[in-house]
Amino acid sequence: MNGKIVIIGGGIAGVQAAASLADKWDVFLVLGENYLPYYRMRIEEIISGSSPESLYIHPESWYGEKGIKLCHSPASSIDGDGRIVALEDGTRLQYDKLIIATGSNAFVFPLEGNRSTSVFSLRTAEDAIAIRNSLSGSGSMAVIGGGLLGLELAYSVAEHFHIPVSVIESSEYILSRQLDRASAMLLQDSLGKSGVEVHAGASAVRADSSTLFLSDGTELPADVLCFSAGVRPAASLASSASLDVDKGIIVDEHLRSSDPDIYAIGDVIELNGRLFGLALHAREMGSKVASVINGDDSPYVPSDSSAILKVGGIDVVSLGQIADDASVIIDRDGSRFTVFCENGIVKGAVLINCKQFMASARKAIGSPFDAAMFQEKM
Ligand SMILES: Cc1cc2nc3c(=O)[nH]c(=O)nc-3n(C[C@H](O)[C@H](O)[C@H](O)COP(=O)(O)OP(=O)(O)OC[C@H]3O[C@@H](n4cnc5c(N)ncnc54)[C@H](O)[C@@H]3O)c2cc1C
Repeated sequence: MNGKIVIIGGGIAGVQAAASLADKWDVFLVLGENYLPYYRMRIEEIISGSSPESLYIHPESWYGEKGIKLCHSPASSIDGDGRIVALEDGTRLQYDKLIIATGSNAFVFPLEGNRSTSVFSLRTAEDAIAIRNSLSGSGSMAVIGGGLLGLELAYSVAEHFHIPVSVIESSEYILSRQLDRASAMLLQDSLGKSGVEVHAGASAVRADSSTLFLSDGTELPADVLCFSAGVRPAASLASSASLDVDKGIIVDEHLRSSDPDIYAIGDVIELNGRLFGLALHAREMGSKVASVINGDDSPYVPSDSSAILKVGGIDVVSLGQIADDASVIIDRDGSRFTVFCENGIVKGAVLINCKQFMASARKAIGSPFDAAMFQEKM
């Protein structure tokens, strides 16, 4: 074995790094939750009745077979000079290389009013269990945030619990970073048929025990209230250890922090001013950091994060940029295919319920727009 590697955080990034390093290094994986590592992006299934164990990435025996030592107590501090990680239970782990993969925390902001119970966010298996318990016997839910996670949560609660669910989005329409207005409205109408009512262009300002009050005067029933207003990198351990941290832990293109023996990966990092929030990047960073530690000198290049989503049972694909010059290629039977151009060059596309055209849309990006190149495929 080359030496000892401690990985703090058993999310997708940490587990991928552990799996990729275990054949050459003595790996210690420090867990922050009361479960073995699980697929975080599937925790809505827990709200509808699944157990956290059913989402485990690997069974416990897998870690033993790989020689990965699991530590079931969160890390409390890092001593970079002494190369020691202290755990909350008093254990001290010496390392040769340290990888911080502590992910992110849900962003929750204060609301006016006297609401003190049934306020949640959805980030962990424990959160999902708490939401499930609170929903049984409740008559309504409000979700603050009309991004992908908020919409998915709202849809699955409406479907499973058959209660009215409101989504509050302060932008003018839902998924405003991924979609144009017309495509968003199509999606919004379809969500409405499933019991999800979207309130866009207003913000949540006050909450009492059963009602949410919006900035435009609307009052919404909200026995259960859930924040889905984005995440913030969980970088406090790194800041306390005097590593360079801005919004996230600042890393170079080799995923190395300001301490050359400490790397950071996944949602917790900031690379060239960019934050990440996708399992796709967390996983690829887990593999990349292992190859860097094993001698690979090539930089980490994040793969294209074009959004391919399923929201409320509807396929949504968002590619490239949403520019002002929109050409609608298909608009029929709940399907919509829009191509966006700038100075005649295709910059992006949005496909609602027609992802069979994704390859041709992707190929068109960067080329002069010609409607005929799509017509042939219909
Ligand atoms: C409901 C939901 C749905 C999602 N859906 C998608 C999707 O469809 N597609 C997609 O690409 N992404 C999705 N994501 C985002 C994706 O889950 C994250 O990008 C990914 O989990 C990031 O992985 P990570 O390993 O960096 O961090 P995390 O998964 O956040 O894991 C970090 C781990 O570190 C632990 N930790 C923190 N501090 C300490 C400490 N001091 N000691 C020990 N451990 C610690 C935490 O407890 C946590 O277990 C979703 C997220 C959520 C919440």
